[in-house]
Amino acid sequence: MHGKLRLMESVAAPPQTATERVSQPIRPAARKDRPVSLYDLPLPDLEQRLTAIGQPAYRARQIYEWAYKRLVTDYAAMTNLPLALRQELSATLPLATMTPVRTLTSDGGETIKTLYQTFDGQFVETVLMLYPDRATVCVSCQVGCAVGCAFCATGLGGLLRNLTAGEMVQQAVDAAREAQNRGRTLTNLVMMGMGEPFHNYEATMKMVTILHEPRGFNFGARRMTISTSGIVPMIDRLAAEPYQVNLAVSLHAPNDDLRSRLVPINRRYPIVDLLAACRRYIDKTGRRISFEYALMRGINDSDEIARELGALLRGMLCHVNLIPLNPVDVLPYERPDPAGIERFASLVRAAGIPTTVRYSRGVEIAAACGQLRAQHQAATPAGNSKRA
Ligand code: SAH
Ligand code: SF4
Repeated sequence: MHGKLRLMESVAAPPQTATERVSQPIRPAARKDRPVSLYDLPLPDLEQRLTAIGQPAYRARQIYEWAYKRLVTDYAAMTNLPLALRQELSATLPLATMTPVRTLTSDGGETIKTLYQTFDGQFVETVLMLYPDRATVCVSCQVGCAVGCAFCATGLGGLLRNLTAGEMVQQAVDAAREAQNRGRTLTNLVMMGMGEPFHNYEATMKMVTILHEPRGFNFGARRMTISTSGIVPMIDRLAAEPYQVNLAVSLHAPNDDLRSRLVPINRRYPIVDLLAACRRYIDKTGRRISFEYALMRGINDSDEIARELGALLRGMLCHVNLIPLNPVDVLPYERPDPAGIERFASLVRAAGIPTTVRYSRGVEIAAACGQLRAQHQAATPAGNSKRA
């Protein structure tokens, strides 16, 4: 995957072993020590905060307009606020808390991947994908991931910490600004970056609330997709939410034997329970589910498995997204050749399941989220010293 990207900053990663690549990150800050930023506050909370310091509530709406409609990066630009208030906010309520440290682009600048450093020295990735008809941001929700799927770079070092709602909101707002700078408008958001959104449910839903606010970012829930490895109780919880967020489920295998090897959480929530939750979700919301399926040569790409997958999903209101695997250099999995991918797709389609193959470079980069961070941490040993 890296070969397709142009590194805009020249930071070379020396050859490392698998363990060295993901070892010894800086210790993450405890929850209580994480700063509250403007991006953490839903509009009513900001109103409350301002009225508590003697400001009229409409100031919150003005700030929301600057931050989320005009996408400014500094209180100094909020020229209809009194100077003293701007100064007080600058000192007490940071706007952005993450710093972009690297940007990579591919395909003539249509795919932009940003590596951020958080206030406590963690690294997370965001990808903006520009298509002719839409612009999609792929947002990370955790530093690392506890699920540890066999083929995924993010899970290699386990979970370091959850991201705050503000850290997720910043990724979306920065991507919207980046799109705007290129004459484009952000149209979609997918939670398909680093981490398992259903292991960070509250903050993820808070991000949805903040981005959805009509007097601010005004991003419709139908334009957001949450992707999960299959945390069953949270599928029911999402079904009960008022927001019409889309759900994608990372299936990757049609039977428990194989799925438990690829997606270890399957041992806790086996396929029968997972699909029952998906059916309840569909019944309750009337919305179609997307099943993601990363195709790996010799692992989950045989004709027999394709038929098994078709039989498993037959009759469900769903769609299958086949993602040719993005090989992770320290992991032994490979993608099938194009003919094998098409054959698999046609066998699933033969069972009546709408199936698409995501060949697109943008999604390829998003799907392999976590690799840039692993590479960066390996290349910056000085930053790793506090772990001992
Ligand atoms: N944790 C969530 C969302 C983030 S991962 C989940 O697992 O659904 C987003 C998608 O990328 C998932 O479908 C995941 O299985 C897939 N993915 C991870 N590593 C990949 C790789 N190397 N190649 C292709 N897809 C990958
Ligand atoms: Fe976590 Fe998703 Fe990667 Fe699995 S695929 S390790 S759930 S981020």
